[in-house]
Amino acid sequence: MDSARTIGPDLVALRRELHRIPEIGNDLPLTQQAVLRALDGLDLEVTTGNGLSSVVALLRGGAAGPDSPVVLLRGDMDGLPVTEEVSVDYASEHPGVMHACGHDLHVAALVGAARLLHERRAELAGDVVLMFQPGEEGPGGAQPMIAEGLLDAAGRPVDAAYALHVASSEYRFGQWFARPGPIFAAADEVRVRVLGKGGHGSSPHRAKDPIPVACEIVLALQAMVTRGFDVFDPVVVTVGRIAGGTKENIIPDTAELDATVRSLSAASRAKVQADIERLATGIAAAHGLEVTVDHRLGYPVTVNDEREYARAVGAVTDLFGSDRFTLMPEPELGSEDMSFVLDRVPGAYLLVSACPDADFDAAPDNHSPRAAFDDAVLPDAAAWLAEVAIRRLAGR
Ligand SMILES: [Zn+2]
Ligand SMILES: [Zn+2]
Repeated sequence: MDSARTIGPDLVALRRELHRIPEIGNDLPLTQQAVLRALDGLDLEVTTGNGLSSVVALLRGGAAGPDSPVVLLRGDMDGLPVTEEVSVDYASEHPGVMHACGHDLHVAALVGAARLLHERRAELAGDVVLMFQPGEEGPGGAQPMIAEGLLDAAGRPVDAAYALHVASSEYRFGQWFARPGPIFAAADEVRVRVLGKGGHGSSPHRAKDPIPVACEIVLALQAMVTRGFDVFDPVVVTVGRIAGGTKENIIPDTAELDATVRSLSAASRAKVQADIERLATGIAAAHGLEVTVDHRLGYPVTVNDEREYARAVGAVTDLFGSDRFTLMPEPELGSEDMSFVLDRVPGAYLLVSACPDADFDAAPDNHSPRAAFDDAVLPDAAAWLAEVAIRRLAGR
């Protein structure tokens, strides 16, 4: 913590530099340059992505052998298409783009962890892979980084992975929170197109009207969720868009529904996809119509491994005190690109409040144009990342 406090001003300066220049998606050239500058001078093996602006920095432990563990620490780097309404002197200089999810703090914290681990690298009995990823808010940077060799960056497979996320509300500043098992949902999309046969509104018997069939499918999806799924392994199906037709007296050829589908286990995720397809197909068939069902899969369920979660929480309570951690009563139905890493490697994902407002419950949430994050949290965030890596490498 002393070391972390010492580098705190540098981390705050880096965070504010990044906050001015938010970029979106998988192409973050300015952010990537800032990360490379911040890591310059450290004894790291740095590689950059081919198909995206990622940075992978490998820290070799001085006490590592051929069988020593490899730990991955991740920070996401991308901003959001939001027009900033926070008045700070380091506000976004990119119109319509804002670090509204606090990923600028994640980058600074990970750079801080790199520096803290670097100071202690002679003692480390293993290697640390630092994952600076673009595209968390979409289209996804973790999968392409994995495809480019992220998890073998050390020449040995990664054994454990950790990440944190800052929150702009909900908990008081400096409070950490998480839960074992599923912490974020899988978030998928589905589009159902009902294929009918258009005609004159006065003569529906001479057409195949897709509109009432689409309506029936919307209602049946609600019954499907309540009757077909365990309430303790919940799914959410929300039809957020329904479209079809142009005028009251024309029966259209087609109607379509778009839904977001959230789930908290791989089993219910697979089941909800299959059930939507069966139900839409069956209802359309009952009326002599057909459907097409297109699933667009998003991020999978984010799962905290029980042992790694315990290690990660232990690092929080030992560093900051047991009152600084809250067990989340239930998962959140948002989703996280880190899930692709945690699908392959046991690990833990914790949240920490950076809410600058004493009235944290009323403060604007992440993604709001008014979301504000207090970068005084950075020394703690960097220290936690470094500490959990040190513990894992030491087998503690
Ligand atoms: Zn976000
Ligand atoms: Zn985020």
